[in-house]
Amino acid sequence: MPLRFLPKQKLALATAIYWFLLFYIIAALFFWFVKLRQQNEQMANYKLMELVADDPSYLQKVDKITTEAARKNTQFIGEGVTFFLVILIGAVFVYRAVRRQFRVAQQQQNFMMAITHELKTPIAVAKLNLETLQKHKLEESKQQKLISMTLQETNRLNTLTNNILISSQLEGGGYKFTREELDLSAMADKMMAEFRQRFPDRRFEWEVVPGLEIKGDALLIQILMSNLIDNAIKYSPKAGLIRFALVSKPAGPCIIVTDEGEGIPDEEKDKVFKRFYRIGNEEVRKTKGTGLGLYLCKKITEDHSASIHIEDNTPRGSKFIIQF
Ligand code: ADP
Repeated sequence: MPLRFLPKQKLALATAIYWFLLFYIIAALFFWFVKLRQQNEQMANYKLMELVADDPSYLQKVDKITTEAARKNTQFIGEGVTFFLVILIGAVFVYRAVRRQFRVAQQQQNFMMAITHELKTPIAVAKLNLETLQKHKLEESKQQKLISMTLQETNRLNTLTNNILISSQLEGGGYKFTREELDLSAMADKMMAEFRQRFPDRRFEWEVVPGLEIKGDALLIQILMSNLIDNAIKYSPKAGLIRFALVSKPAGPCIIVTDEGEGIPDEEKDKVFKRFYRIGNEEVRKTKGTGLGLYLCKKITEDHSASIHIEDNTPRGSKFIIQF
């Protein structure tokens, strides 16, 4: 069975077998080394015993036998040490490869679980809302509320499917990347206005320098910016302020997204850009997600010859900086 389907206990078993085999191989190597040395000594002794004491070249022959024995000893030590090192290096490689494989498998499994949940929830909510609208004659305000909730869920679905489809297309080289002149400022303004409408109970603030342009793919840039705002919403408390800034730096336009959430520890700042990577583990995590959002952000910035990095926001939260 491929390793990706092994549960944790099986990994523990595989690890135990690995250590046992490694220990056995090293012990066997040591055993053969000791045995060979003993045999070598014994052979030298037999040869010495066969010598006749009054042979005129007796001393010369003794010397030859002991030198030969010493040479063989050195050879055994050299070969033993080389084998030992080869085994150790191989063992380290195998260990790391299996661990990595397991980690990726675990992340993929989490991704599948998350995606099932993420796809089913908005569909279920939208279906329920539409059925309610169909069956009951509701007053106008309630109708509007249900419609806006349904829209929010379909937006969630849209973001999710975009993330999944685009990341697999970018990965497989199937995405037709366009390079058109984009009015980044207008796109940012429009997107922030939409977020404010979609999340009326959240605090947004944005500062957009007008007229900043880049050459790029409109859909990808939209995904890039909205993934960062989506994350800021997801990983910060309701009362927290979410800031978006599009400013002009000497190098080019620069996007800065800050939130007042839990922030991202230093040791995770690079890892969060990996595919399927999510901080913490599935049991303790409060928010659902796929671990694709930031991976996609990184990929999109790279494709636009831009850079993305994370800093700590003061007094709390995180700050994502994209430099075009
Ligand atoms: P997802 O949000 O679907 O889990 P992402 O790739 O967007 O995937 O993010 C990867 C991880 O980085 C998240 O699981 C979360 O732990 C962390 N993260 C992303 N954005 C933020 C943020 N603004 N504040 C705190 N943590 C964040």
